Amino acid sequence: MKFGGSSLANAARIKNAARTVERFSKDNRIVVVASAINDVTDKLVEIGDLAQKGRIVQARARLLRLESFHLKTARAVLGRTTSKELVDIVDGLNHELERTVEGIAHLRELTPRSRDYLLSFGERFSSPIVAQGLRNLGLRARAYTGADAGITTDENFGEAKPLTEVSYHQIRRHLEPSLARKEIPTVTGFIAATVDGTITTLGRGGSDYTASLLGAALNVDEIWIWTDVDGLMTADPRIVKDAVLLSTVSFAEALELSYFGAKMMHPRALQPAAVRKIPVRIKNSSRPSRDGTLVSAGETKDNEKVVKAVSIIRSIGIVTVSGTGMMGSPGVAARVFQTMGSHRINVMMISQGSSEATISLVVARRDVETAVRTLQLALLGQGSVDKVVAEKDACIIAVVGSGMKGTPGVAARIFSAVAQKNVNVRMVAQGSSEYNVSFVVSEAQGPEAVRAIHDEFHLGKPRS
Ligand code: ADP
Ligand code: ASP
Ligand code: MG
Repeated sequence: MKFGGSSLANAARIKNAARTVERFSKDNRIVVVASAINDVTDKLVEIGDLAQKGRIVQARARLLRLESFHLKTARAVLGRTTSKELVDIVDGLNHELERTVEGIAHLRELTPRSRDYLLSFGERFSSPIVAQGLRNLGLRARAYTGADAGITTDENFGEAKPLTEVSYHQIRRHLEPSLARKEIPTVTGFIAATVDGTITTLGRGGSDYTASLLGAALNVDEIWIWTDVDGLMTADPRIVKDAVLLSTVSFAEALELSYFGAKMMHPRALQPAAVRKIPVRIKNSSRPSRDGTLVSAGETKDNEKVVKAVSIIRSIGIVTVSGTGMMGSPGVAARVFQTMGSHRINVMMISQGSSEATISLVVARRDVETAVRTLQLALLGQGSVDKVVAEKDACIIAVVGSGMKGTPGVAARIFSAVAQKNVNVRMVAQGSSEYNVSFVVSEAQGPEAVRAIHDEFHLGKPRS
């Protein structure tokens, strides 16, 4: 069971999560995965940025608030329990966090490696607090970091990849004895370590991935993701008011949705579960009796629906490489992708006009500058490419559904629905799986485009 940040937002929510675990622990053995409390990871990002810029006064002020927040939450979860252990753990982490931030400010340097170390504090605070919440109910819980649990990754800080075979072996070795002792291992989501023990993170939203990795390693019956909505819906309910819950979704659809839904689930989270065909349930931590969404290898309902869901990825940018000399000159595309690969920039979408005079790439907004600079260095002045430009104000809209495969006219409906709302489409791509059509619009027009498609394919609640 993985609890997201909003399901652990304060002491009351943490106690609620603990009661939920207790309720299901009567008939099941459970491993708990805890995200950082609420938006603590975002706060750590801000503190790191301030410290790196040398704005130490502001960084310290925020740090102090975060420190007292964790202490207060820990004390509230403890209630009348007299254990001093948790307060000592939180004090110790606060002290370590202070030194980290002072170090960043002193050097004015925040490398991907030190950033992962900084971000690791969110989950390192939350898992002992959640474990205490479980112990208060008489359960035997023990806090583990991702590394203690056995998750080992490569050194790609910020988006580290688990070394699966080693990790699975170690996870079994570390957690099975704990489960056999009737303990509830309470593991930090999101963080792991390299072979030599340096802390890494699995990428933002990575606690889902942790849950899936642990589940696959331990060959569990089900993986449950507790969040703040009823499950996977036809669209983000914050954007589309009449979005509807999807009761069953196939792994293939969920993979497309999570990759392109970005915020709902970590893009790689489902992969370990899908490989072992372990069903994943997404459930609302405020309404634990509801079924939520079941993601599984089996048949899904609503198969007659062509389009199943539409989602949006914000904070991206388009980088366009162009030049009249590119036409008929082989190798330019290869160089473009090689350059992106060697700078570890993930390309989310690609399109090339048939005139071959431009190639456009979509990358995360934080990578846009590096992408432009490195492409300019690699390509300009060599005959075929004249310029490399970027647009930062963009978002991807992804339309997903396995019924789209082989159904003609879907793209036409999508683009005319969007055009009727005067939304300008800047770039288009269709995955060859035909499970999704994605396109890029300005950030401001994103929500409107999502609603237009949701209406066009009647994904919402039937109107009475
Ligand atoms: P957690 O803290 O549990 O990890 P997240 O914020 O990562 O939660 O993800 C849950 C949020 O994702 C929901 O509150 C919802 O606004 C948003 N969301 C985006 N797309 C969808 C979708 N298709 N279905 C459900 N929720 C979605
Ligand atoms: N706390 C991490 C984040 O905010 C991981 C997670 O919540 O899944 O990205
Ligand atoms: Mg999440």
